[in-house]
Amino acid sequence: MPELTPTQRLYFDDAYLRAFQARVVALSEWRGQPAVILDVTAFYPEGGGQPADQGTLAGVAVRDVQEKDDIIYHIVAEPLPAGVGDTVAGEIAWERRFDHMQQHTGQHTISAAFYRLFGADTMSWHLGAEYVSIDINRTNLTDAQLQEAEHAANAIVWDDVPVTAQILTREELAKLEMRKGSDREGGIRVVSIGEWDRIGCGGTHVASAGRVGAIGVRRTETRGNLTRVEFVCGARALADYHRKTSTLNAAVAALKTRAEDVLPQIERLLAQTDEQRRDLTDLRRKLLAYEARELLADPAGSVAERPVVCRRMDERDMETLRTLAGQIADLGGVALLGGACAGKAHLAFAGPKDAPLDLNAALKAALPLVGGKGGGQKFQAQGGGPDIAGLDAALAQARSHLLG
Ligand SMILES: [Zn+2]
Repeated sequence: MPELTPTQRLYFDDAYLRAFQARVVALSEWRGQPAVILDVTAFYPEGGGQPADQGTLAGVAVRDVQEKDDIIYHIVAEPLPAGVGDTVAGEIAWERRFDHMQQHTGQHTISAAFYRLFGADTMSWHLGAEYVSIDINRTNLTDAQLQEAEHAANAIVWDDVPVTAQILTREELAKLEMRKGSDREGGIRVVSIGEWDRIGCGGTHVASAGRVGAIGVRRTETRGNLTRVEFVCGARALADYHRKTSTLNAAVAALKTRAEDVLPQIERLLAQTDEQRRDLTDLRRKLLAYEARELLADPAGSVAERPVVCRRMDERDMETLRTLAGQIADLGGVALLGGACAGKAHLAFAGPKDAPLDLNAALKAALPLVGGKGGGQKFQAQGGGPDIAGLDAALAQARSHLLG
């Protein structure tokens, strides 16, 4: 490909330019996809934290826009119905671009607030599909301080401070107070929000701060020695408000309460649930203790003068079988319990610690009959397997192993 001159960026002079005419300079490729190079473009290529524009070129969808060595590549869905030298019409997907302009300008505005109020530098920023985030080099900001920064940024929005961009030389730049300098060679594009903020930036911005609409902080998170601040601007702030309001309204309706009582109500319900869960666990244990006594009244035999309970009890989960076996052991008996539950055969054996038993050996003798795995100690062992049909035989095997 012959030496190309840098693509002229129309959005530098007019970020509101949505439709334009350009000459095709080259039909190229970008990572295996067809890409078009123009002499001028209003398409913003991904960079500086701002995502790429989308839109159409000669009616063909522009999926992505990238730049390399000052040449802008318009990555198109299919090859263009035009050749080198032809003039084509370009159109920017405006809703997407304007959203990026609102978020990006809002980012400058709130980053400046953290800088001016708390001396915090913005180390990086990200414009995501859902929200914007900045990482600032301060931690432990209080809720009141966060609100102070959010309010200061919104005050700039409500004052509708003009947002301007100009390309300055290094000498001109040296005379200005900037939030952050630039290490770019040559002319530097400086974006100013009145006297509030001045920073080197090649992105697209709204013409005045009022067009950001609103800046709302959603949440913050400490990340090492940085704080990540998540926020939404403009139409995203309104959408966020609608989403959360409808969630809150649904909670108000479900709880039959007022909005301000939703949280205390949820806390009360959670505390109640906790208490009920504790009560239920306690009652279950008590009930199992009765059951243990009942089972001990009808033993299958005895070993070392200890009554042995051998029972199949289906539809009881492993935890229940283990607890019941433990209760029988606490009462001085030996338990060989088995049951089918949730498509699996379970075995839970337990006996007093001081009895001369080897329940682990009894379990190991029984387990192959249910195709299972498990283990434990001499006074307590459990296991299970998939073969429910072998469960009765497994219990009989354990019983004869123990009683001889
Ligand atoms: Zn910018």
